Amino acid sequence: MRLSIASVCLALLPAACSGPSGAVATPPATPPTDSPYLLVLGTAQDGGLPQIACRKACCEAARQDPTRRRMVTSLLLVDPRSGRRWIFDASPDLPLQVEAARGHGGPGLDAPGRPALFDGVFLTHAHMGHYSGLIQFGREAYGSAPVDLAGTPRMIDFLTSNGPWSLLFDGGHATAVTLTPDVPLELSPDLTVTAIQVPHRDEFSDTVGFLIAGPESSALYLPDIDKWTRWERPLGSVLEDVDLAFLDGTFFGPGELPGRNMADVPHPFIVETLRTLEGSSAATLDKVHFTHLNHSNPAADPEGPAAKTVREAGAHVLGEGALFAL
Ligand SMILES: [Zn+2]
Ligand SMILES: [Zn+2]
Repeated sequence: MRLSIASVCLALLPAACSGPSGAVATPPATPPTDSPYLLVLGTAQDGGLPQIACRKACCEAARQDPTRRRMVTSLLLVDPRSGRRWIFDASPDLPLQVEAARGHGGPGLDAPGRPALFDGVFLTHAHMGHYSGLIQFGREAYGSAPVDLAGTPRMIDFLTSNGPWSLLFDGGHATAVTLTPDVPLELSPDLTVTAIQVPHRDEFSDTVGFLIAGPESSALYLPDIDKWTRWERPLGSVLEDVDLAFLDGTFFGPGELPGRNMADVPHPFIVETLRTLEGSSAATLDKVHFTHLNHSNPAADPEGPAAKTVREAGAHVLGEGALFAL
């Protein structure tokens, strides 16, 4: 993974401002200057919030009040010691998320040419919310110098074998980094990323979450998974091994998609996850931050009763702009 020019902008922008959409944000915090940190760039399911053509209160309210909007799930990892940064998933909101990431590592604003905007892009899987933003790196848009795209062999094979994604490689805008699940990739001596395979609807690729381990703490990024019971790793023991967990919170509970069979799009309901963790310590529940919220998810409204249920259980609904030191 390549070294980019250290940013001089860390002090210029408020660190935990809400995204450019004005979307739901957690209280401001200052990014560390001497250790890696995570910046939350998006927290919605693949379709975003508001979602296309939704005329229900969930999305009409978000159209009227920008603070209720949420960009599609994405996470930025910044190492201020080197100015390097990596993004997890390339969402359809990537252009806005690049702006939200300004001042957090990456090439300087006056850097010549079209330097890679990230030192690497870690891809969880080939569903629209998680890789379609890659198209922005191509010649029709940014025309990037080669950026490292990291994924499992099946994910990389999908990208290199199918247009329009293959043009990114053919045109010199991307290079492939193949990840072996469970084998850490070293970004610096005290910073690693490990892909962890999870069960999901794997039409074009397999699906992974990422374990991000820094000098002081570690985080699990797991935006998409089928039910916890289909995973060989019990959630409780997964949480024992990390300090933070950004977990699939697509749906709050059953009945959320009238007219659709929710078994066709299996995800752990937030209420199921909380039930699974019933009896866990307060410290364990405090690690849990729900992300990847579908537009229908009532917990997306921070003032609503569903978000209150999550808070009262001791867990969190993730907000854009949140910062976590590693
Ligand atoms: Zn998704
Ligand atoms: Zn909606």
